[in-house]
Amino acid sequence: MKAKSSLKQIAPYQQGKQIQDIKRQYQIDRIVKLSSNENPYGYADTVRQFLASYEPAFDIYPDGHTAQLRKDLAYKIKVSESEIIFGSGSEEIVQMICRAYLFQGVNTVMATPTFPQYKHNAIIEGAKIKEIPTIEGHHDLNGMLEAIDQDTNVIWLCSPNNPTGTPITKQDFIAFMDTCPQHVLVVLDEAYYEYLDKTKDLHAMEQIQKYNNLIILRTFSKAYGLAGLRIGYGVANKQIINQLNVVRGPFNTTSIAQQIAQIALANEAFIEKTSQQNLKVKLDFQAFLDRIGWHYYTSETNFMLVSTPTSGTKVFDYLIQHGFIVRPGELLGIPNTIRFTLGLQDDMYRMQELLSLYQHQNS
Ligand SMILES: *Cc1c(COP(=O)(O)O)cnc(C)c1O
Repeated sequence: MKAKSSLKQIAPYQQGKQIQDIKRQYQIDRIVKLSSNENPYGYADTVRQFLASYEPAFDIYPDGHTAQLRKDLAYKIKVSESEIIFGSGSEEIVQMICRAYLFQGVNTVMATPTFPQYKHNAIIEGAKIKEIPTIEGHHDLNGMLEAIDQDTNVIWLCSPNNPTGTPITKQDFIAFMDTCPQHVLVVLDEAYYEYLDKTKDLHAMEQIQKYNNLIILRTFSKAYGLAGLRIGYGVANKQIINQLNVVRGPFNTTSIAQQIAQIALANEAFIEKTSQQNLKVKLDFQAFLDRIGWHYYTSETNFMLVSTPTSGTKVFDYLIQHGFIVRPGELLGIPNTIRFTLGLQDDMYRMQELLSLYQHQNS
């Protein structure tokens, strides 16, 4: 049979090795997984308590409208209920955006390096991709604006950017939105919003009425510690949400994900604690990198992108033998770097020891 011709251009997502396989291969019993920016502190106690007495109704379809979570979320982020769409992770909303707005003959503009799912899904839909290199990890917003033409339908901003960790400033964001033509949908992916220093908040949620071409993506997978449940959301004006609802599957988030997200959302103390602990670990690790003289990108997230004296792949191979899984920059399009999640402090001390040793052996 004949598949879409665009499928020939790309390969299925290459999952990292599973923890069990690594344990067996290297004969180690504890693995520290720092490759997917999950929350090392787990999830809120209130979620655990809920699960202890949870009586699942797995025989019943979920509420496709996600009414209860929608109500709480709208109240919390101060938008109207009709301005929200939920997805099986925010990644599914990336898919919906591509399905609704991208097709052969149009183009889409994004940074490079950035979150790879924008490009992946845009290629599937047959759109032309315009990638604008980041400058020291920052989006080149002027370069991105210049790349826009009359066939540009979607532009992707990721702030803070994955994999560089760098945020867009509020001033630059507003200037960008004021200049960007109305016919271009601006996607602002804030997957790491909860980790952002509050003084650097773009306050983009307050801008969705002003900018009719803006959609903001957020997720419960990162700071909320719920990556395994698959739930995230998008916020935009009603017209965009209505169009995305046409392509959305009728029961695209599960009942359990909806219920747990609602409980997690209410627990602000957990998010506060997570971001404070993360900040402590980050500052300590940055001081360590300064001591050994390794360059790093300023990060407002729970991960760091660090330049390495050898290829990132070599550092990856070395660390995995000691039970640490990181992402080699070669897989992310930035050679001679590694990206790793900021884990528990004791694990990060251990990683510092390993990297010091590596620095000795390779300088
Ligand atoms: C992790 C991540 C997402 C997707 O997370 P979901 O689990 O699909 O909600 C989206 N964007 C960026 C930049 C991410 O790092």
